[in-house]
Amino acid sequence: MVFTGFALAAALLSSSDSVDPRIPMPSKADWKDPGYLKLVWIQSPNRSPRPEDTVIDTVVVHSTVINTLQLTTEVFQRGEPDNKNPVSAHFTIGRDGSIVQNVSTFEKAWHAGVSVGPAGIKNLNNSSVGIELVNLNDGKDPYPEAQIQALCGIIAEMKRRFPIKYIVSHEYIAVPVGRKNDPKGFPWEKLKYLGLPMYYGQKMD
Ligand SMILES: [Zn+2]
Repeated sequence: MVFTGFALAAALLSSSDSVDPRIPMPSKADWKDPGYLKLVWIQSPNRSPRPEDTVIDTVVVHSTVINTLQLTTEVFQRGEPDNKNPVSAHFTIGRDGSIVQNVSTFEKAWHAGVSVGPAGIKNLNNSSVGIELVNLNDGKDPYPEAQIQALCGIIAEMKRRFPIKYIVSHEYIAVPVGRKNDPKGFPWEKLKYLGLPMYYGQKMD
């Protein structure tokens, strides 16, 4: 598998970089998917500080159930108090490998909900990086190679930054079991080469 992560690593800026890469949500008419392995940062209001001394050791993979990168980004812009169910992720990846960063990885994104990880740690939003894949989550909608490559690039970069120990599906960590089933139909074997334990499907215990 060819890994073209250098441009991506350069693009994954932290909030402490001197040039603030965040842009406001473009108007519907001005929206443009950034393109393969290109990243724009459209800040979501749905974020909060991570608890002090949190170890970020988990990557949670989701699918959006929403059909486009633009619509997903719009949903992540809907904040409290009008929105009773405000959500976000750190990254959202379009079908063509375009990336929108929604929340700094130094902050908590709101993607996991009530959850428990492989090591029994609860409330995975605290200790994870959440990545959304644009996909209908019907088990038939394919995850294109470009999208998987972008996902691998982000996970590889997260491994360099944090002591990542697990890749998990939202389905696996959701409490109660069966509350979520995403990312349905994802080809997990394509992430094997990253060398991290993967937990997906419904948790059995
Ligand atoms: Zn999810």
